[in-house]
Formats: sequence, structure tokens, C-alpha cells
Amino acid sequence: MWDKKGEDISYKWLKKLKQRLLVEVEQEEEVTLAKPTARQFAGERQEDEALAALSDEDLVKYAISRAPKCNSMNFISVGNKNAENVKLIQQQLQKAGANITDPEGTFGQTTLIAAIAAQKQAGIRADGCVGTETVAALKIPIKGMRAAGGRDRAITGEGKCRYKKPGNTRKTRKIMQADDLWSYTEGAKGRINIAPGWQRANITKVQLHNGKRVRLHNAVADSFAKAFQEASEESGYNPSSVQTQVARHILWDPSKGLSNHTYGTAVDFDPTDNPYGKRSGKIRDFPEFINIMNCHGWLWGGDWKTPDDMHFEFDISRL
Ligand SMILES: [Zn+2]
Repeated sequence: MWDKKGEDISYKWLKKLKQRLLVEVEQEEEVTLAKPTARQFAGERQEDEALAALSDEDLVKYAISRAPKCNSMNFISVGNKNAENVKLIQQQLQKAGANITDPEGTFGQTTLIAAIAAQKQAGIRADGCVGTETVAALKIPIKGMRAAGGRDRAITGEGKCRYKKPGNTRKTRKIMQADDLWSYTEGAKGRINIAPGWQRANITKVQLHNGKRVRLHNAVADSFAKAFQEASEESGYNPSSVQTQVARHILWDPSKGLSNHTYGTAVDFDPTDNPYGKRSGKIRDFPEFINIMNCHGWLWGGDWKTPDDMHFEFDISRL
């Protein structure tokens, strides 16, 4: 870990950054730092490369603007209300040499800076959002977050990530159809034909851990591959049929709206074993599978009023 590498690079980095920020804070009102920041970055998820290119100050501002999103995904960042978990993070950061001046259990600016420094040192995504990857790298003993393995694991067990948010289909449709390239014509039997330009610009082929290649939207392809692998490996459920992008109406019915499968943001697992409209899917024997998919932002159709046990769709509003 970062305190065992001899030269404590990140601590120096942390100290310098803290000094600069303290000057900045002194110049402004104490809380104003978060406000222009939130507007500047609007909480949008930046690529790892984009983050690495940010100045230290901008990185901290980004982390603050992103914190509500981080917390809403059951991870931990600035303003997190779970004082017990924040305390565990602070203790581990302090052990590694960070000088945290935030009150115990309060995730404020110095905890954030220390977290970013530790993430940088560990060579993982440095965004001040303490998720499974950080917990594993820093061996933070938070219950419900797995500290084993180097992979970015979701929070598993005890239904930690289960959330049954309705209305995602409409939101996704709005986001997808706002694309200038978007248009379609009706096809046969509830299918539609998407404008090839939209298809080329938005859909990608991704290889899954089981060797299959599937078509998904660019924005969710990596998330799906990761979620599916983790869900399968952890739960022991290995669906052999994985159906992804099919441009069509809901239930193949031309009088209904467009299915999220159209945009490559929805997936069906083993339709025969997990039939539509029944609460009897084989998948129900593997709650951990559903939970882990949820952790990665994939909503389960089995939670709907009319259950669709085979179906998961990405909550695009979380991006
Ligand atoms: Zn489906």
C-alpha cells in the first residue's frame, strides 16, 4: 500500500494540495467551493484518462460535484451520511499517513483529498468516490463491500444494492431519441429499422466473459460485460442465452412504444427459463445475480408490476 512503498509520494502531494486549497477556502466563503464546482462539472462521469489530465484543484472540484452521484450508488464520498463507514475510511487513511482534519465520521474536504491521494497511490480510478475498488485497495473493513481481489467489485450481499426504480424506460427513450442521428421506420412484426448512422454511432459489439459477442449501446457495453461476469461468477447462475439489442416495439406490438432493447440498453437472459409475466423465473433462485446486476445499475424487470424475469435494463440516468 502507499505507506509501504518507502517514499510517501501521495502524502506530499496531499499536503501541497491541501495547502493550496486551504488558501482557496480562506479566500472564499467556507461552503462556496462546492457550488461553482457542481455547475462546472455537473456531476458527469469523466473517463479515467480525462481525470488524470485534470489539475489537482480541478480533480477535487470534480470529485465534489460527483459526490451526490457517488453516494447515490451506495458508494461513499463527500457528505455521506453513514458516519460509521466514513469513520472506517478515515481510520484507514490516517493509518496510511493522511492528516484528516474533518470531524470523525464526516466526509469533508480533507477526507476527500486523502482519499484521492490514496487512490492515486494505489493506481486506481482517482475520483474521491470510495467504492469497492478503493475499499479493496486500502483494505477498509466496510461491511457489505468486498475487500477481496483486485477487481472492481460491486457491493454484494444482504440486498445492499436492490432498488426498484420504475420509469426508467421513458427516461432512456427521451435521452436516446434526443440524438440528431435518431430516426426509424416501421418494420415487420413489431420490428423497426433504425437509421444506420445512429446504429453506427451508438452500438458496439462487446465480448462477454463466456465468449459470446453481443451488441450493446456504447454507454453501457463495458458496464454490462463487467456486471454480467461478476454476477455469474458470484452467484453461480450462468445463463446461456443473452439477448441484447433488438430494434423493436415493446412486446413486439406496433401499438406500443419502443423497447429499451432498441437502443442496446436492455438485456434478456434465458427467456425460456425466465418467462414474461410470471414470478417463476429460474433467475429467482439466484438473488445474488440480480443484486449484483442492480449494483452496477442494471434494473431488473422481475421487480415490475407485470414481472419480466428475463429482463434487465440500464438506468441510463445514472451515467
Ligand atoms: Zn427484455
